[in-house]
Amino acid sequence: MKIVYISPEVMPFAKTGGLADIAGTLPKSLQKQGVDITVITPLYGVTKDCQYSLLKTDLQVMVTIDGKRKYGYVYKGFLPDSQVPVYFLYNEQYYARKGLYNYPGTTRDFEDNSERFIFFDQAVLETIDQLSIYPDIIHCNDWQTGLIPVYLKAKYASRKCFLNTKVIMNIHNLAYQGIFWHWDMKLTGLDWSLFNWKQLEFYGKLNFLKGGIVFSDSITTVSKTYAQEIQTPEYGAGLDVVLKERAKDLYGIINGIDCTIWNPETDKFIAANYGIKDLTGKQICKKDLQRKCKLPGKDVPVIGMITRLTDQKGLDLIVDIFRDLMKINLQFVLLGTGERRYHELFQDYAKRFPEKVAVKLTFDERSAHEIEAGADIFLMPSRFEPCGLNQLYSLRYGTVPVVRATGGLADTIVDVRSEPISYGRANGFSFKRYNSDMLFATIVRVLDFFKNKVQWIEIMKNGMKQDWSLERSAGEYVMLYKKSIQGG
Ligand code: ADP
Repeated sequence: MKIVYISPEVMPFAKTGGLADIAGTLPKSLQKQGVDITVITPLYGVTKDCQYSLLKTDLQVMVTIDGKRKYGYVYKGFLPDSQVPVYFLYNEQYYARKGLYNYPGTTRDFEDNSERFIFFDQAVLETIDQLSIYPDIIHCNDWQTGLIPVYLKAKYASRKCFLNTKVIMNIHNLAYQGIFWHWDMKLTGLDWSLFNWKQLEFYGKLNFLKGGIVFSDSITTVSKTYAQEIQTPEYGAGLDVVLKERAKDLYGIINGIDCTIWNPETDKFIAANYGIKDLTGKQICKKDLQRKCKLPGKDVPVIGMITRLTDQKGLDLIVDIFRDLMKINLQFVLLGTGERRYHELFQDYAKRFPEKVAVKLTFDERSAHEIEAGADIFLMPSRFEPCGLNQLYSLRYGTVPVVRATGGLADTIVDVRSEPISYGRANGFSFKRYNSDMLFATIVRVLDFFKNKVQWIEIMKNGMKQDWSLERSAGEYVMLYKKSIQGG
């Protein structure tokens, strides 16, 4: 089974969110399960400037955009500690700059994002052809790859290399669709007849992800609940009807975590290692986190958050209850980057409550591990959450998740109220209605539980025991690949 896995970001080479984690690890698990897998991704300036051992190959691909020839230079590397080949596509005009999709330190998108990925999507198919891969499946991820299924069906289908190729569109977050003004159709080189409401057009604009959904053989997203949710107007971001039409080809496969990277027993970033049999290291990590955050080293509950600072993540609810939260004996540690107004708000909270609040507004892998290990409680009150990875990391680190029951959070977090803790499944706390009173009431409930250490440790251990490894999701992908191939 030959699979080509295309992702706009791959850990450790480039990352803005959870997709990079998955793209950097899932292919390794797939390879271990016998899949012949190749990864393709852009070669961004940030990657090129790092000391990864990438080899410039002789391969060069050419794509015509708006009558002009654009060249892609192909580099080769491997996913760390593996034999999974990664081909990087480089074009100076498109990728040499700092930042992946927007100006660094801002939320302002690059003006030429559509052209950058129109180029990438065709260059990918050219590369696969030149490498003579003859893939059974091209596995696309998110809007940046949304035109690949379109090009495959509309332009490349008759090439020998693609005669038996199926394509899967994997949606990691429907909120990002790659919507551009209609004149960018001209850059795509695709026939204007495709610009209609059933295919590429979306309220007068060009929509990459819609193209991906309509033209692929199967669609998958990252949890079963999210697969259902996105077929409703509330979560469908305008594409609910399109997705509903494809319901029989739409699957939900929950993401998994790489336990070689996220494992408190071996994690090199944290102050002390620990595991389910001996939790003393976790207390050392808590003290270390408090010290690094300049918070008093008291025995109070520490609530952690690691997140993109956007509305999706429920930050408006936190802002709503912050004053009341500060009346409680607790500490709050936030690591995140994103919208300026949240940067300002949380910076202000940290100034006003220096004994209780610490914020770090950067993207920092080490701090993420330190918070996962050092916090007692992990907060994710998301408005929507396709899968979410941090609640899974938290389970593994014995940091009890408090979540809104939506998408992947609903599929992974079992509230302690729903069944006796001793059954082994209850691993956290959740609330359903998106509302700040509900969040506050849940936090009060959590803190009440926290006082009973015996019960708390039982909840921690339930989470630590559970298997959210990548191998599980890889197995489900293999089944989906087989089904797609057999689908004829
Ligand atoms: P999303 O993909 O919506 O951002 P996920 O929970 O699926 O959310 O994945 C987020 C990933 O990005 C996690 O690995 C998380 O630890 C990481 N992350 C988010 N913000 C930061 C940050 N400021 N510093 C380090 N890692 C971060």
